[in-house]
Amino acid sequence: MVIVIRDNATDVQVNELMDWLQGFNVKTNLVEGVHSRIIGLIGDTTPIDIDAVKARGIVESVKRVQEPYKNANRRFHPDDTIIEAGGVTIGGGGLTVMAGPCSVETEKQLMETAIAVKEAGADMLRGGAFKPRTSPYAFQGLGKEGIELLLKAKKETGLPIVTEIMDLSDLDLFADVDVVQVGARNMQNFTLLKALGRCDKPVLLKRGLSATLQELLMSAEYIMSEGNSKVMLCERGIRTFETETRNTLDISAVPLLRQKTHLPLVIDPSHATGISSLVEPMAICAVAAGADALEIEVHIDPKTAWSDGAQSLTPEQFKTSMRKIRAMENFRKTELAD
Ligand code: PEP
Ligand code: MN
Repeated sequence: MVIVIRDNATDVQVNELMDWLQGFNVKTNLVEGVHSRIIGLIGDTTPIDIDAVKARGIVESVKRVQEPYKNANRRFHPDDTIIEAGGVTIGGGGLTVMAGPCSVETEKQLMETAIAVKEAGADMLRGGAFKPRTSPYAFQGLGKEGIELLLKAKKETGLPIVTEIMDLSDLDLFADVDVVQVGARNMQNFTLLKALGRCDKPVLLKRGLSATLQELLMSAEYIMSEGNSKVMLCERGIRTFETETRNTLDISAVPLLRQKTHLPLVIDPSHATGISSLVEPMAICAVAAGADALEIEVHIDPKTAWSDGAQSLTPEQFKTSMRKIRAMENFRKTELAD
């Protein structure tokens, strides 16, 4: 962190500021130029609130030279994190595919979908029991019953399950869930993030609708700073001026986050586009870009789905897409590897 001091600051004020900064266990290096004074901070500046520094009257400007996240930062953890969830790994060079319906609707719907995605080569079953819907009048999910159905499908197919938590008070219901999803709308629910940080459960953290990548990383930091390092980051499209697609898939998030963090990276081409015909090409792009995992919505009969039918693949479409996705995974391994 570099702090530029105002011209009219007295030596006493500058010393006071340096004393305060040293209280954060950093070294202060005062550089006296002809026209200005600058304080350089050496050490871990992550606990220092940049706004609190700016609020000091004698501070002209402040610039961070290091990222404000430490646990998620590749600088401090050069090796990729590999997460184990229900016998499946996420990260470390392979491609994990999570697939299933947007919402768990009925036992028949879930079981048939689970069997179909397994046969097509999916590694995990996704399905929403608690649904964050824009309208309070839309289907809100089966709740506890939905989790029970997912556990039943897990037992029957052997597929580990990923499902979204919306409310901390439901946490006990997630005891046998393999990956807990934090949806885009809850990316900055800091109470929820901190509580998940105190659990020993893999978390799939989705990027907020209008969140920057740094904000996504800071949300991961909330979980990790409480002790849980099993966090994967999911790009699921962001809000832009484009209205042809539900969201805009920021595919550059994959190579960029790869540089910034060691955490596994997931792409959700379903919510990113909102259009089933775009899911396969975006999934293939995601694999080419280096994603560690995909999360794809599949429904036995999309036209009757209780949520997100327009972006859901039929089992048949998913099967075809999986062939191409695995082909790209292979190509990545053999031809695109450094
Ligand atoms: C979902 O995965 O079902 C979901 C609601 O996703 P998002 O939070 O990305 O909108
Ligand atoms: Mn959905």
